[in-house]
Amino acid sequence: MIATDLERIKLDQDVRLLRGEIERIGGEAIITLQTKSGRKTVTAPIRDMGAALDFVIRWIASDESGLAEVRGPADVHAVGHRVVHGGERFSESAVITDDVLKGIESCIELAPLHNPNNIKGILAARSVFGPGTPQVAVFDTAFHHSLPEHAYLYAIPYHLYRRHKIRRYGFHGTSHRYVAYRYRRLRNQTREQANVITLHLGNGCSAAAIQKGCSVDTSMGMTPLEGLVMGTRSGDLDPAIVNLISGKEGLSPHEVESLLNTQSGLLGISGLTNDMRVLLDEVKEHDDRRARLAIELFCYRARKYIGSFLAALGGAEGIVFTGGIGENSPEIRERICRGLEWAGVALDDSRNQQMIGKEGLISGDGSKIGVYAIPTDEELLIARDTVRCVLGERHPS
Ligand code: ADP
Repeated sequence: MIATDLERIKLDQDVRLLRGEIERIGGEAIITLQTKSGRKTVTAPIRDMGAALDFVIRWIASDESGLAEVRGPADVHAVGHRVVHGGERFSESAVITDDVLKGIESCIELAPLHNPNNIKGILAARSVFGPGTPQVAVFDTAFHHSLPEHAYLYAIPYHLYRRHKIRRYGFHGTSHRYVAYRYRRLRNQTREQANVITLHLGNGCSAAAIQKGCSVDTSMGMTPLEGLVMGTRSGDLDPAIVNLISGKEGLSPHEVESLLNTQSGLLGISGLTNDMRVLLDEVKEHDDRRARLAIELFCYRARKYIGSFLAALGGAEGIVFTGGIGENSPEIRERICRGLEWAGVALDDSRNQQMIGKEGLISGDGSKIGVYAIPTDEELLIARDTVRCVLGERHPS
C-alpha cells in the first residue's frame, strides 16, 4: 500500500505505508505484514482472495496497524494489479473496465496459470472496495511491446503467428522498466541517452535490451520458460528435446513442459535446490561438483545474453543487476561479468561487495560500461501507473 500522487511521483517522494504477503489462500493462510512500526506474521483460515483482502483491510483499519491514513476501504482511492499477460492488445497499463477485463480473459490462453488468478484478484477487489474505486492493470508484458518484429517473431511458418499469436512477448516488464528508470536517475540521463542491459535474476530470470527507454529485445519468450537458466526453469533449449524426453521417459508433452518449468534450471543441474544461496554454500563448504556446475551454467548463460544484447543494441553504456540474486549476490555478479573485460566491463571489487540490497555503482571508474545493482520495486511502479492511469496521464518511464 503506497501513498502517492503526481506531485510525489515527480519528486520521488511516494510513501510506502504497508507491504505484505498472503500465502496458502484456501487453507490456513500465512499473512506477513510490514509497516514502519514493524513486521507481523499471523495465520488465519482464508478461503479466497476476497477474504484475503477483507482480512488485510480490517487489519489496516485496526489500531494495531498504526496506519492513521487508512480507516477502511473508503480510504483506498485506487487499486493497481500486476497482470502477467496482456498479449498483443495491452501496450501499457489500463484502467480496468469490463472491456479490459474481457481483454485479460482473452489472454488466459497465453498465461493459463497466471491470468485466472489475476482476474480473481480484480474481482475480489471490486467486491471489497466497490465498483466506484478505480482499478488498474499493470501488465508484465507491456514494456516489451516495443520489440521489433525481427526480435519477437520465431522463425516458424508465419501463419502460426497470424493464427495463434505464437511470438515472443517477454515478461518481468515492470521490473525491467523500473530499474532502467532508476538507472537513468542515478546517471542523470534522459531516456534518449540510455542504452542499457537489465538482468532480473530471481527465481525467474530474464534480461532485457533497452534502447532510449524502450525494450528492443528480451530473453523470455512466448512463455517465461525461454532464455536464462532459472531456479527451476531450463531457459533456452533445442525444441526437439521435448519430443525426445517424451518418448524416452514416457511423459506427455504437457508433463515434459512441466519438467522444464519446475524440475530444471539450478534445481535440475544441482539435484539439490533452486536456491542460489544454498548452492553457493554447498560449493564453499563441500565443494559440491553439481552445485558448482549449476552456478557455472547460470552465469555462463547470463554472460552470453549480455554479449548478444550488446550486439543487438550496438553497444551499451550500462548493465543493471536486479532480482533476489542480482541485488544480493556480489559473487554471482562477479562471475557473470568475469570475461566481459573485452567489452569494457570492469567491476570494482569493493563496490561490488558492498552493494547488497541497495542501489549503486559496482563497476570501477575506468569501466567503459557502468555496472549497477538496483533493487527492483514493482509495487512502486504499479502504484505510480495506477495514479497516472486514473488521472488520464500517460506514463513517461
Ligand atoms: P522471485 O523471482 O520469486 O521474485 P526473488 O527475486 O526473491 O525471487 O529471488 C529469489 C532468489 O534470490 C533465490 O534463488 C535466492 O536464493 C536468491 N537470493 C536471495 N538472496 C541471495 C544472496 N544473498 N545470495 C545469493 N542468492 C540470493
